[in-house]
Amino acid sequence: MNLPNVNARVAVIGAGTMGIGIAQVAAGAGHPVWLFDIDAAAARQALDALGQRLRQRVQSGKADADATEALLGRIQPVESLDQLADSALVIEAVAEKLAIKQSLFRELEALCSPAALFASNTSSLSITAIGGALHHPQRLAGLHFFNPAPVMKLVEIVSGLDTSAETVAELQALTRQWGKQSVLCRSTPGFIVNRVARPFYAETLRALEEQVADAATLDAVMRDAGGFAMGPLQLTDMIGQDINYAVTESVFQAFFQDPRFTPSLVQQERVAAGRLGRKSGCGFYRYDKQAPPQIVAGLPASSAELPHSIKLHGDAAGVTLLAELLAGNAEAIIQPGQTSAFAHLDEVTFMLTNGKTASQVADETGTPVVLFDLSAQYAQASTVAISCAAQNDARHNATVVRLLQSLGKKVILLPDYPGLLVMRTLAMLANEALDVVNKGVASAADTDHAMRCGVNYPRGPLEWGASLGWRHILTTLENLQRFYGEPRYRPMPLLRHYASLSSGAQ
Ligand code: NAD
Repeated sequence: MNLPNVNARVAVIGAGTMGIGIAQVAAGAGHPVWLFDIDAAAARQALDALGQRLRQRVQSGKADADATEALLGRIQPVESLDQLADSALVIEAVAEKLAIKQSLFRELEALCSPAALFASNTSSLSITAIGGALHHPQRLAGLHFFNPAPVMKLVEIVSGLDTSAETVAELQALTRQWGKQSVLCRSTPGFIVNRVARPFYAETLRALEEQVADAATLDAVMRDAGGFAMGPLQLTDMIGQDINYAVTESVFQAFFQDPRFTPSLVQQERVAAGRLGRKSGCGFYRYDKQAPPQIVAGLPASSAELPHSIKLHGDAAGVTLLAELLAGNAEAIIQPGQTSAFAHLDEVTFMLTNGKTASQVADETGTPVVLFDLSAQYAQASTVAISCAAQNDARHNATVVRLLQSLGKKVILLPDYPGLLVMRTLAMLANEALDVVNKGVASAADTDHAMRCGVNYPRGPLEWGASLGWRHILTTLENLQRFYGEPRYRPMPLLRHYASLSSGAQ
């Protein structure tokens, strides 16, 4: 039977957080669903709890009573694996243990029709390794839903070494029918999202460890200046510090302890202390009634004079970005072939951070220097984060602050930290995304789509990196690598290749 056909029976194994959500999605699309858990009471309890949740939505006028009862009626708990024999698709969401998943699918292979497809919702195990237990591994793929499965639109369809193109095509058609947006990837640690997203957390955790600013300020820079929906520390408090740390640790180990995935000691300490985030009442923030409000004020209003002249110099991409931030209040001098762009605000050099400190840049230019951090959309951002060279006079800094405030921006002054926060994070995200593409794990379009749809990034890291110019991303990483002397920031081969192409923006 063709899977998108709603009469095709779907079996879900494991009635925990993910299993019951996946059962709801399949039944909501019209499929009859078997729900099996090794603990029969767990399956019944999960179904009862789902019934309560959905009926509450009916009572508050958010869902239709008949459709809700029909959906619930389509999910049948079963007490033995034998009862799943007539399933067209079996999705497992049991404990994250390779041996358990392998033995489950071995049993199912003996029970189900040869045409039945098998899917695993594993977040971290190899689909190839799970399929290794089967006589016909071509019928198995990863179907990686995100939590909560009924709400999150993205599904990663993961191919093991032996997964057939037909299996992938059927799962693509099915997930489309279920209202999901699927991306395709090869079975590699973290798949797309859990791999590419690592630096989003890691760079802010590092900045916290290096005492650049407090948690609320760092989150405000990433959110209100950078354009991300939530700050990384806020988000890990929501996910759970233990869960987020465990994913990082698993990706780090799976990549043979590659330093670019090194877990954070600051986060490990939170886990050790039981400060897991919202669920424990405290993480990087407190969640009790007496918790202080998290207001990041920005600098007080500057009464300095506005700069008399504002001139932009550099390549077209850099000048466009500066003009967007300065809301067109500038005279642009486009110099094709330039590798960077900067503004002269009177004698102050004002430019996007490139992984050097402002003081390093001031040494090179012999001028006062103020650097600003990256934003997904300067025009819409409420906030701009800046850093100032140690060599500057206070009046130089005040002039720049006055200009930004006159454009309606809140200004957050960070210490002179190389790459600031958003720029170094994007450089690392784009570098990782390029490695995913270079190694054939996923296409560029699917990688960007996964990051926008799975973790809500304001722009795909590849599209964002290309629009900024690959040379700027490369320069930023090279400068960070020089500054820290660590292989964490090493540029990937595809980044070097793209940056070497003359246009600088592919
Ligand atoms: P969970 O602990 O909430 O639920 C697992 C359920 O599986 C339990 O009810 C348990 O009784 C049952 N179970 C264990 N062994 C079984 C077996 N041999 N046969 C049948 N049932 C068995 O776990 P979860 O958070 O729902 O995660 C399930 C899977 O989904 C894991 O592989 C996990 O990596 C993956 N996943 C989890 C999330 C998440 O955010 N929780 C997101 C994506 C993927």
